[in-house]
Amino acid sequence: MKKIFFSLFTVLCITGLFLFIAPHTYATTDIVIKTTISEAEFFDDAIQNNVIPLSKNTALIVLLETDGWTKVQYKEMIGFIKSEHLKAISPQYMLVKANNTPHVYSTDSQTSTINGQLHLNSIVEMYGSATEDFVFVKYGQIMGYIETQNLVKPTTTTMTVKGPKDLVVRAIANPSSDEIGQIPKNKQVTMLTNLAGWAFVTSKDVSGYVLASELKKTAPSKVISMKKIALTFDDGPHPKVTMQILKTLEKYDAKATFFLVGQEVKKYPEIVKATFEAGHEIGNHTYNHSKLTTLPLKQMRLQIQSTDSIIKATIGQNATVFRPPYGAYNKTVINQLNVPLTMWTIDTLDWKHRDPKKTVQAINKQVKNGSIILMHDIHQTTADALETILSTLQKQGYEFVTVSELTQ
Ligand code: ZN
Repeated sequence: MKKIFFSLFTVLCITGLFLFIAPHTYATTDIVIKTTISEAEFFDDAIQNNVIPLSKNTALIVLLETDGWTKVQYKEMIGFIKSEHLKAISPQYMLVKANNTPHVYSTDSQTSTINGQLHLNSIVEMYGSATEDFVFVKYGQIMGYIETQNLVKPTTTTMTVKGPKDLVVRAIANPSSDEIGQIPKNKQVTMLTNLAGWAFVTSKDVSGYVLASELKKTAPSKVISMKKIALTFDDGPHPKVTMQILKTLEKYDAKATFFLVGQEVKKYPEIVKATFEAGHEIGNHTYNHSKLTTLPLKQMRLQIQSTDSIIKATIGQNATVFRPPYGAYNKTVINQLNVPLTMWTIDTLDWKHRDPKKTVQAINKQVKNGSIILMHDIHQTTADALETILSTLQKQGYEFVTVSELTQ
């Protein structure tokens, strides 16, 4: 009897904790998530003097901001962090794709408390960087860690708000959830999912769940290109080839991203200015194309920072993306960056075969919506391939955008 009582008691306690004594309840619209902009220290409030180092891009729930310090929740702990280490970021929207409805845990461990469960095909907000296995997400009032493998990038469809009324946007896919905004009738929105009558849409001012029945497919004449790819050119600028590439891109109204080598920027600043002024994105590709993972920290930093400085001095603004030479990076490299690290999804191997036909083939074989294509604007053969690449893909309905626009 005693044993039964004990078990019952335990179950009640756990249920009680779960339902009623959850440490914090929030109104959906009030929740603010911030991430660390650098390595920072978290001071645990409950266990005095317990200081936990946090890596860059750690997601934290903001509880209260006071005089230089912000009270935050980190995993299951409440504590403080210096406000200067935090910034509010817009989340990345991810689609829940799994075999079973995945759990959201209170820490990055399957044995920790379960904060909630997510519907399949729902869209969640993702914050901060993922560890190998877990990432921080928010869905309405459910916040915590989910296994990274349960999330994929959603595909997008352009829809129009039917009317006659404006569209009510809610925090989650539930009619009684908080209203977070409205979208006027006849406006176009981007739909990221449609589940059980609810669509998740994003627009300029508000993103959230709406009744799918209040949307209609955008008329064909108004269709915004749904297929986007990012062409990227590394190792330039080159005095001759880069200019040819710019000319061909302009002909097709295509935007691309150029990952520049600092020492070449110094030699050919006019070409970099022309690239930037034509609306292309400028990325950092180190000072002299060093393999960063083999360098001591000081030299690694110098490679990145000196290139940042010379780009800023040349075009008047910072590089907005970074790509490591040879695709070689580790956690230390990432920690030195103020901008996203961008790899690629299609390697044309243009530097190796130097054959325009092979460059075209590599792309045609693998291209799909969201592809990031790696090429080099220091080889004549790459410039020679570009006209065919652009005309073929444009006919297939692809739009050519910068890396940042693609990954927005
Ligand atoms: Zn390179």
